[in-house]
Amino acid sequence: MKHVIIGNGPAGVVAAETLRKADPGATITLIGDEPEPPYSRMALPYLMMGEIDEAGTYLRKGQDHYARLAIELVRGRAGAVDTGARRVRLDGGASLGYDRLLIATGSHAIRPDIPGIDLPGVHVCWTMEDARRIIARAAPGARVLQVGAGFIGCIIMEALVSRGVRLTVVEMGDRMVPRMMTPVAGNMIRSWCEGKGVDVRVKARVTDIRRAAGDALLATLDSGAALEADLVIVAAGVRPNIDFLRGSGIDCGAGVTIDAAMRTNVPEVYAAGDVAEGIDPSTGKRAVNAIQPTAVEQARVAALNMAGRQVASHGHLTLNVLDTLGLVSTSFGQWWSEPGGQTAELIDQGEFRYLSLQFAGDVLVGATSIGLTEHVGVLRGLIEGRVRLGPWKDRLLQDPLRIMEAYLARAQAAA
Ligand SMILES: Cc1cc2nc3c(=O)[nH]c(=O)nc-3n(C[C@H](O)[C@H](O)[C@H](O)COP(=O)(O)OP(=O)(O)OC[C@H]3O[C@@H](n4cnc5c(N)ncnc54)[C@H](O)[C@@H]3O)c2cc1C
Repeated sequence: MKHVIIGNGPAGVVAAETLRKADPGATITLIGDEPEPPYSRMALPYLMMGEIDEAGTYLRKGQDHYARLAIELVRGRAGAVDTGARRVRLDGGASLGYDRLLIATGSHAIRPDIPGIDLPGVHVCWTMEDARRIIARAAPGARVLQVGAGFIGCIIMEALVSRGVRLTVVEMGDRMVPRMMTPVAGNMIRSWCEGKGVDVRVKARVTDIRRAAGDALLATLDSGAALEADLVIVAAGVRPNIDFLRGSGIDCGAGVTIDAAMRTNVPEVYAAGDVAEGIDPSTGKRAVNAIQPTAVEQARVAALNMAGRQVASHGHLTLNVLDTLGLVSTSFGQWWSEPGGQTAELIDQGEFRYLSLQFAGDVLVGATSIGLTEHVGVLRGLIEGRVRLGPWKDRLLQDPLRIMEAYLARAQAAA
């Protein structure tokens, strides 16, 4: 059996290792288009903070790890998949045949269509090479303009602030993390960041970036304001790497469409990680859940099925845990309020504590929290388990902090 995996991030690596255990005699080839050994993007902020070196980001430390497992590493970029002939065509002309194929190509950072976005000194923060470029410019006292305050934007702020830069964040939404946090939560995170000395501008867009004196850049906002910066970091969202699948017959929505076994619509082709679009059990709708724990779990399920086992996933709850300059926030499932749903909300602005619960009938379907890390497991358990809360729903509407009691009373009793 010949297994080919396109993409050597956490999903590709975990899939290769799982395959090796489950299918000892198989041939396993892992294709990656970056020059580094397989590494974790999650570790890049620690590299930028100087807490680890580049080798510290590598997913596996032993130099001979892949050779020992007889996992063949191929450096190259998959340009097309011929699902009829079962071949992956690499840029440059080479091609590889497969019996079973896993697509684990992750996502890429979006560069919005802004004049000047490709100037030197304007970078996304997605790859090792991006991190090197940011480190080179983000010297103490440097003026850094970050475009976007979403998930990745918030994660990298800590690294930037720790480098002693003067940071301005421009976000076009009306609050920080607008696609993951309620208005109250997004604004609470904003005032936390402002308290740490970050200049946060919401409802603002960068319309143009130009060269200023020397190496500096000048960004113009839609308000007409102009901001000078030594470095511009673009954190404006990510998109799955699916373009090379055009014409392959593999169904894609926002990402590669997968079923509970991580199968695509094409026989013997699977997908996992940031590139895949599975079902979120809290909404029943398709979603790309671009976080590392989901990537790794999907990879494990895909690999077991590729090895001939029958394994199904229950779907992956949309789940975000964010540490923004030391303030921990979470959002789960359908965190926003829907017409006809009911919401319980606790706001403690002074202590930076917040909890919002969303109900459909007597089932908790989503939640947002700030500074209440002790409740994370309970919230997840109630939402994922679609636990019927019965009389506890009304108690939670009165006092959402009773969530732990509700969990003990309902979820554990049911178990
Ligand atoms: C700065 C930063 C911080 C993050 N922090 C967190 C965090 O705290 N928590 C969290 O859960 N997640 C975090 N993430 C997200 C996390 O890194 C991703 O969810 C995870 O990397 C997904 O793994 P993957 O294997 O699906 O994709 P990737 O890690 O993106 O790996 C895919 C690999 O495939 C390669 N590839 C793409 N196309 C091709 C092709 N055509 N041919 C060959 N190779 C190809 C890519 O270059 C890449 O090396 C962070 C991401 C970044 C950038």
